[in-house]
Amino acid sequence: MPQKPLFDTIAIVGFGLIGSSLARVIKRDSLARHVVCVDISPDVCRKVLELRLAHEATSNIAQGVSAADLVLLCVPVGACGPVAAQMGQALKPGVIVSDVGSVKQAVVNAVKPHLPSHAHFVPAHPIAGTEHSGPEAGFAELFERRWCILTPLPETELQAVERVTKLWEACGSMIEIMDPAHHDLVLAITSHLPHLIAYTIVGTASDLEDHTKSEVIKFSASGFRDFTRIAASDPVMWRDVFLNNRDAVLEILQRFSEDLTGLQKAIRMGDGAQLQEVFTRTRQIRRQIIEAGQADYRSPTGSEAAQPGKTIPIKASGSGS
Ligand code: NAP
Repeated sequence: MPQKPLFDTIAIVGFGLIGSSLARVIKRDSLARHVVCVDISPDVCRKVLELRLAHEATSNIAQGVSAADLVLLCVPVGACGPVAAQMGQALKPGVIVSDVGSVKQAVVNAVKPHLPSHAHFVPAHPIAGTEHSGPEAGFAELFERRWCILTPLPETELQAVERVTKLWEACGSMIEIMDPAHHDLVLAITSHLPHLIAYTIVGTASDLEDHTKSEVIKFSASGFRDFTRIAASDPVMWRDVFLNNRDAVLEILQRFSEDLTGLQKAIRMGDGAQLQEVFTRTRQIRRQIIEAGQADYRSPTGSEAAQPGKTIPIKASGSGS
């Protein structure tokens, strides 16, 4: 719904799935007067202008962010620090810098040292996405009825948090405040581990010899098919997630391995009661997700999303504001 702009100029650095989805909703609803695309790829810049997703586009980071009163870092997590280093000196006084990275503590550590004291940093993570990448994959409805987690620093001014909150609410999201380390632990179980399992299962299948592999694809039941969708997610994005949330993922992976060993033992011992007890408990979780309105998700093109957002609703345990 058109409304008074929340910002004068928003620079979106990294114009892929998330950046272009934000641009679409910002332009559609006039949430900013001016939108600048900053992307390392000249091809992306050309495409963005062709699709009229931004008013201007550049590969020069410092130039692209210099007039912005909000800069949104929508690049892979590992690129956030280097991008911040290139733009730090060019930021204008009072600017708000935010991001959308799937890992929070590493992004805070990498970005904060490069920001001038006159900038306000409000890290964020929209729990919404698909397995697709690039500016053509985005759509304005991506964030509707999805959580967006903000992990402001203790020194972040409340007013900056409120302005970022308003932007995400205008995109249709619900806001939760957490501290970065807690965010990383929660997402390790709800998003990062499921992706690792999907990458493993599909990788194991692809390692089978050709004959069997063709049968794997031919007879892929819905279980395997669902894993292949998740395992089609962007390799660079997910490489960076695992490199930057190492401790939390390893901790959750240890718990998972122990539980898997428990089920392995139950199968070997023919312990049907144990298997049934676990499967009944997990069925309840699925029901809770459906009741919370966070279950199946489809983009306007009809493709179901493999996304960090397909998670149990997250309750904040700590506030960083
Ligand atoms: P994407 O579709 O691959 O888009 C990333 C864009 O950033 C690409 O156009 C890429 O260009 C560009 N880029 C890479 N390095 C850059 C740099 N140094 N300077 C400027 N531009 C650069 O990725 P995405 O899915 O939108 O993910 C972006 C961020 O959102 C990640 O931090 C991710 O963790 C987070 N996130 C993703 C999802 C999801 O489901 N996809 C959900 C929530 C949050 P090239 O293609 O030329 O490298």
